[in-house]
Amino acid sequence: MSLPKIMLTNTLGGKKEEFKALHPGKVTLYACGPTVYGKIHVGNAMAALVSDLVTRVFRLAGYQVEWASNITDVDDKIIKAANDEKVSAQEIAGRFTEIYLNEMKELNVQSPTHRPKATESIPDMLSMIEALIEKGFAYAAETPFGKDVYFRVRKFKNYGKLSNKNLDELQTGARIEPGESKEDGLDFALWKAAKPGEPSWPSPWGEGRPGWHIECSAMIHKHFPAGIDIHMGGLDLIFPHHENEIAQSEACLDHKFARYWIHNNLLTIEREKMSKSLGNIFTAEEFLKNYGAEVLRLFIYQHHYRSPIDFSEENLCRTEALLSKLYAAKKKAFEVLGSLNPQSLEKVPEIETSLYDDFNTAKALGIMMKNLREAFKQNTAESWKAWVPALKYFSEVYGILEKDPDSVIAEIHNRKLKRLGITEARAQEIESKLEERVRLRAQKDFATADKIRKELEDSGVLVMDGAENSTWSLKSGLS
Ligand SMILES: [Zn+2]
Repeated sequence: MSLPKIMLTNTLGGKKEEFKALHPGKVTLYACGPTVYGKIHVGNAMAALVSDLVTRVFRLAGYQVEWASNITDVDDKIIKAANDEKVSAQEIAGRFTEIYLNEMKELNVQSPTHRPKATESIPDMLSMIEALIEKGFAYAAETPFGKDVYFRVRKFKNYGKLSNKNLDELQTGARIEPGESKEDGLDFALWKAAKPGEPSWPSPWGEGRPGWHIECSAMIHKHFPAGIDIHMGGLDLIFPHHENEIAQSEACLDHKFARYWIHNNLLTIEREKMSKSLGNIFTAEEFLKNYGAEVLRLFIYQHHYRSPIDFSEENLCRTEALLSKLYAAKKKAFEVLGSLNPQSLEKVPEIETSLYDDFNTAKALGIMMKNLREAFKQNTAESWKAWVPALKYFSEVYGILEKDPDSVIAEIHNRKLKRLGITEARAQEIESKLEERVRLRAQKDFATADKIRKELEDSGVLVMDGAENSTWSLKSGLS
């Protein structure tokens, strides 16, 4: 049986290409996981949702998927957090690994086949570093605390091929930090000598710990000795992390490391880049409390993974209203048709074609919504029957709409009241005015409809009209 053609945008080369598997019928994939020193933010959650999407689309197409995503549980940031709290690095890593895994479960992210931890893969890193030294791609250098090992960037001919950077440009910005003893500012650490009180492992160069980049290379080689088809991560990881992964792996192994690189775009919060200094870090935990997991999944997949995404109360509130509408549709379809079983539903080639074309969830959703508008408009068994196959994709690919409609609709409503800090009575008052406005607009009485809108806005209500429906929030921004 031949599998459908899947096209993807490969950062390596910058073109959209047809996916050709290393092993027929199977896809091997690796996605960089979190460094567990604190709670993850929504940007990290987005990267996890994009890798979840890619693996789900390959499964939908009939591929066998073997994928790994790591936990970076040794790192400068973990050591710093441990020192700040006066606890061990192990305790910090253990605590935030557990939180991360619970959040992934709540977000309905399917578990990877392998979830390696850096601290459990030290021997794999050591043997890779030794091989690199033997081949002349790495060298040990004395520091005040013992020996570091660095990768000799200029010796690797293709350095910069992923990020399209050239060495002379990079050289201008390269610095040798105090305490480092590199031959060249471009070189990066594979192994760092342990400073007093830091977690460390014995090595041929003395007690120390791995650099971040070598972790992923070693973990990939451990689980996929022949290399992987696809490597994934956020755009912010292209340089230096992924560039360095390529250099280390290909210098060491003499085979192509990853043939396709998929990078998701980043998200902004009310049009600003999320950053600790701006104080606008939105944790996944806060998001889940204020909006819920399905709103995040739907919001991310309303966009193409390569487009930038902006979080604002207005955007999220629209998605929340759309999710309620989808659940209301599921309920209605069940009432009209008497039964629904997404697994037995027939295929919709138009939807699959969009998903197989660079994972275009935004376009596929548009097709699903077109049928839904018809179903609501005509409200016949025929029109609902035509929409119902979309449920298969909402469940298998988008990972939403799998719950009981009434309870989710109530949950969304309650979460919104809590988030905005208003009473049920006030919400009902706003909603009945909005309904009245819809009625007036249908009767083409725009003057009165606009008057209602103005009244609502004067009392601090944000009225949002959209293609699907109207919804509302308060003008206070993100909570
Ligand atoms: Zn990585």
